Amino acid sequence: MDLVKENVLRRRMVEEQIRRRGIRDERVLSAMEEVPRHLFVPKEIRHLAYADEPLPIGEGQTISQPYIVAEMTAALRLSGTEKVLEVGTGSGYQTAILARLCRELVTIERLASLSSGARRLLATMEIGNVTFLVGDGSLGSPGQAPFDRILSAAAAPSVPAPWISQLSQGGIIVLPLGGRYEQELSRVTLVGDRAETEFLGGCRFVPLVGIHGFNR
Ligand code: SAM
Repeated sequence: MDLVKENVLRRRMVEEQIRRRGIRDERVLSAMEEVPRHLFVPKEIRHLAYADEPLPIGEGQTISQPYIVAEMTAALRLSGTEKVLEVGTGSGYQTAILARLCRELVTIERLASLSSGARRLLATMEIGNVTFLVGDGSLGSPGQAPFDRILSAAAAPSVPAPWISQLSQGGIIVLPLGGRYEQELSRVTLVGDRAETEFLGGCRFVPLVGIHGFNR
């Protein structure tokens, strides 16, 4: 894919799949226009990188549909000053988007091969505010807490308790909540000692596999 063509495809993706469907956060739209999504998908399916669908990235996992990445990122309401925990690094695509929009990012992935691929790719992009961890992200990352925001790209049956305890006051968690195959995209805001949940729409994510997630 040549550079001019992929720039055109990316601009079209942002206009037709994201802005037109109601995402208005200009910082999110710019980040999505800048990050070269085609580098995050396997070579054999690079021609599909800007399509309106999730794609396989190996190990039985997926890179989310561009609109979903934008919707989840916008739902975090990032101003640029936040420390963020991302659970489910996957290809590193959403990591690269988030890194542009926050102060500091910790990203955790249970599959070491995906984490190291993402780490290598982001190093070539000279993104320097990301710490890559391998492990069970359902436990959060106590050594790096508190976090102002937590984003999970894997579906949980309920909000993992460690995420609530590692969230700063007024902090936001965005995650798919529900069953193994179908969930509600949810935004949880910590207000005092209460966690308030808003449902943003139906979605389908791979399961969060871990102590506070599904068992496989
Ligand atoms: N946002 C990613 C991207 O842009 O490519 C896609 C993430 S994919 C939908 C979900 C990821 O969550 C998978 O890579 C999966 O291995 C990971 N995952 C599932 N359970 C996990 C856990 N307990 N801790 C960390 N990562 C987990």
